[in-house]
This record gives sequence, C-alpha cells and structure tokens, in this order.
Amino acid sequence: MPPEYRTRFAPSPTGPLHLGHAYSAILAHDMARDQGGQFLLRIEDIDRARAKPEWEAQIYNDLHWLGLWWEEPVMRQSDRLDAYDKALDGLWERDLLYPCTCTRRDILEAVSAPQEGIIVPTGPDGIIYPGTCPRSWMGMPCSLVPRPEGQTLRLSMALARWTSVDDVSGLRWYFRETGPAHKGLVAFTPEEMEREVGDIVLARKDFGTSYHLSVVLDDAAQGITDVVRGEDLFEATKIHVVLQNLLKLPTPSYHHHRLIRDQNGKRLAKRDDARALSRYRAEGASPQDIRRMVGL
Ligand code: GLU
Repeated sequence: MPPEYRTRFAPSPTGPLHLGHAYSAILAHDMARDQGGQFLLRIEDIDRARAKPEWEAQIYNDLHWLGLWWEEPVMRQSDRLDAYDKALDGLWERDLLYPCTCTRRDILEAVSAPQEGIIVPTGPDGIIYPGTCPRSWMGMPCSLVPRPEGQTLRLSMALARWTSVDDVSGLRWYFRETGPAHKGLVAFTPEEMEREVGDIVLARKDFGTSYHLSVVLDDAAQGITDVVRGEDLFEATKIHVVLQNLLKLPTPSYHHHRLIRDQNGKRLAKRDDARALSRYRAEGASPQDIRRMVGL
C-alpha cells in the first residue's frame, strides 16, 4: 500500500508567525485535507539560544486561531538530539565528515584573497567552503579517531557522490516537485553539488546538528510524503536529497510555494513584526481575512 499523504509545517519558535508562515501552514494543511491525508506540526528549536517557549506557545495559538488542526504528538527537535547524533556517528564512520575549525572570517578571507572585490561564491548554504581544512586526519581517514564533540563537522560532497548515487551510470539525483515554478522531476548532478554547494556544515559547534541534517531525519521520522514550504528553500532541497540518499531515507515529493512579499516586493522576515499574525488579529482581522490576504 502506498504511504498515506502527509504534509507538515515546521516553524522555528524564534519570533512571531507572519503572513508568509500563515500561507505555508494553511497550504500544507489544506493539501493534506484535500487528499484525505494528515497534517503534522514540528517545532524546529535546535537553536537553543534563539528559541523561546513564549514563541512556541504563540505558534499553537496562531495556528489554532487560523482553524488548523494537526496530528498529535507535535515533534520537537530539541527532543531528537540522540537521533541526530546517531546519524552523525554513522556518517563519521563512513568517512563522509571532517572537522572544520574555520571561522566565518577565515572563510571570507580565503575566498576573497588575493584580489579585493571578488564576488564571493555562495550557494544555498551560504559561502561555498573553500576547502581550507583537510578532509582527513593527519593524512589518514577521520574515522580512525572518535568523532570530536563540540566541533563543526562538514560533509565531503566529493565523497558523497560515490556512496549515494544508486544509478552509477546516470550519476544524477532526483526529486519530484509539484510547486508552481518547477513542476516535474528535478535532476541534478554530483558535479553541480560540488561546484555550487560544496562541503556544507552538518554539525554546528553550538548545537551539535544543523538545519539540513535535522530536517531530513525528522521528515523521515514523521513519515512526511509531501514537503510544502517556500521556494526560497528550492536549492536547499538538493542538499536534503543528497542526505536522504546517504542515510537511506525516502525522498518525499516537494511543493515549493511562492513567497508572500510586502508592497515593495521584499519577502517577509521574522523581525517584520508589523505583519505578525497576532497583530492582524489584535486589529480585528478574521482567519478568513488572512486567507484572502495571502490569496487562498
Ligand atoms: N524551520 C524552517 C523555517 O522556519 C523550516 C523549513 C522547512 O520547512 O524545511 O524556515
């Protein structure tokens, strides 16, 4: 039997939900309802310094007010640190990770030297890592030593290709996209990933995991079949597909929706309190008004 249709909304409790979040949540909720499937909620609170219980409480409040219902229990990333650790252990043992001691400044200096004013190459995960730290440990595989704690770990994109592409003759990764901008099968190559994304951080020094690793493990653990999220994450999905291949997890379908923008065409940001849902609500807007404002 094919898996049940399941979508999710995965906000970070680091600020108020705004119209963009409302659009994403309502869309994911309605898509699940229309398919007779399930809508799940996940609180992405790995950034302990920025996540606050009051924002989490506000998320439940806003979503209920919008008339959305989700399956219990709600997954919280702060409860999943063991799962992230286990996955990192596995990748470390396969020599796919290496420690990186570069600061942001080191990276910037490495990519801009020797000429000033050079355009810094960036990908979906920020500046493409220039490869300053060695991918080995004193010339030997990293797995010969225990995985270091409290250190940044990067994924070796060059090695990822050999362990994760099933169809070696094709040398392509794929995912199915149902969003308005890229409908159909999206294919991309390991060369593209090395060139345009590079060795991304999978474990951050400060929280021992990363958005990319956690989101992939959590979508699989929640049995998500259809990820509904903003088109700003379209390129990041390629990273997620690589990780799903490495970790032998299923690749869901993706629906990258348009972004809600302000009158100047700028996408809404967390700090954009002026468009917080709670503010509209306080000013007397109804959930129907919110649906109308985002074009639903
Ligand atoms: N916590 C992420 C955000 O708020 C979720 C991204 C995703 O849906 O994968 O942007």
